[in-house]
Amino acid sequence: MFAFDREGVYQAVNPVAQKIVAGHPQTFEVAFLNAQGKRRNYECAFVPIVVDAGGVGVFALVKDVTDRHQAQENQRILQRSLESSENAVVVVDVRESHMPVVFVNSAFTAITGYSREEVIGAPVKQLTGPEKLIQQADMAMYKAKQQGRDTYVVYSEDLDSKLSKRVELRNELQEAIKTGQLFLNYQPQVDRDGQLCGLEALVRWKHPKKGFISPADFIPVAEETGQIAHLGKWVITQACKDARRLLEMGLLKGRMAVNLSPLQFHRPGFLTVLRSILEDTGLAPEHLELELTEGILMKDSEGAIDILNVLNGMGVATAIDDFGTGFSSFSYLKDLPVDNIKIDRSFVDNVTTNEKDAAVCKGVITLAREMGLNVVAEGVETQEQFCYLKSHGCESFQGYYFARPMLFEDLVQWIGKTG
Ligand code: C2E
Ligand code: CA
Ligand code: CA
Repeated sequence: MFAFDREGVYQAVNPVAQKIVAGHPQTFEVAFLNAQGKRRNYECAFVPIVVDAGGVGVFALVKDVTDRHQAQENQRILQRSLESSENAVVVVDVRESHMPVVFVNSAFTAITGYSREEVIGAPVKQLTGPEKLIQQADMAMYKAKQQGRDTYVVYSEDLDSKLSKRVELRNELQEAIKTGQLFLNYQPQVDRDGQLCGLEALVRWKHPKKGFISPADFIPVAEETGQIAHLGKWVITQACKDARRLLEMGLLKGRMAVNLSPLQFHRPGFLTVLRSILEDTGLAPEHLELELTEGILMKDSEGAIDILNVLNGMGVATAIDDFGTGFSSFSYLKDLPVDNIKIDRSFVDNVTTNEKDAAVCKGVITLAREMGLNVVAEGVETQEQFCYLKSHGCESFQGYYFARPMLFEDLVQWIGKTG
């Protein structure tokens, strides 16, 4: 195609004209500014009229194809943007009764597993039912959300089966909450002399057919589905009731600690619910402690600090659980109105054998002491770990070495025995 001004057109057309005069038909496109100064595209067809082997004239057909060009360009732009979309896109020709697929982008082929050859021209109905497709896309999205932001997940059958298990667990958990399959265990915390100085409530689920299901498996499901609000409320209430019973028996030393999930903590009305539980169970706030993970405090940290200050004012203590596993730096501790830090089990595990883990434990203990915080070492399983941590200034300990989590009745006996 040529694109010239009028002089240029003449120069371009001239050699073409010579070929036409020589008896050869010519077609070509030119673009030039018309009388109104607008750029237009023209398709030209010149057919020589030949009489007795001599050219006597020319049929000239000139067509303005500017609109057709523009439409093609628009289509190219649209196609490029659909192609680069992360969402699966299917374009169907609805003018045809069988609605053939005329375009699918790369995301569509990646997500569905269909190849372009399989689907282009095929009736759209032949694709797996759109409901199923949406369901599968939904599962992938659900999984992607679970993994945090800025990611994508491609649907696979494996994902399907994992998520079906989760859906099953969700339904069963609903039933478990209603029918009382949940109960609490209590694990003692001890001081440097091995004397009881606190308790942690840990939820347990005894499924009628599957047996015990670990909170590490069902708490995340409850968090995703929102069931944690109800479940968490039940846990705090039960723990407060049992703490009250222990107090009445003269057996409670220190506080009753309850684990809080981020969703519970950030839920509007959390403080109101907590106040009403304390009131209903008659437990003084001085006997309650809430364990929060670093994740809770990183998300909306200003809002979190406000809530921590209110809790502080109420007399409820707070602890940072699994310390060292999150993203936080030590420096953020200075801004947090918390009372305790629980060093994660993963550091305590190798505290006597791995220098780096020992360094983390020592660092946390020193720092916490300077900030006036109490440190609890979690998951202490051996005497060596206990002695090592104690020699470096740790104040409180929790782990199988002292006691496993147990039922309320067993706890009463344990306290009776250990004094
Ligand atoms: P966590 O808060 O870090 O709880 C400590 C976990 O370590 C408990 O597991 C406990 O049984 C276990 N543990 C204690 N001492 C030792 C030890 O010496 N060695 C070893 N290997 N493990 C020890 P559990 O009860 O299975 O709980 C797992 C997690 O589930 C908890 O970790 C907590 O994050 C969550 N969880 C438990 N109960 C609740 C609850 O009521 N609400 C919420 N939101 N989360 C809970
Ligand atoms: Ca905990
Ligand atoms: Ca922990």
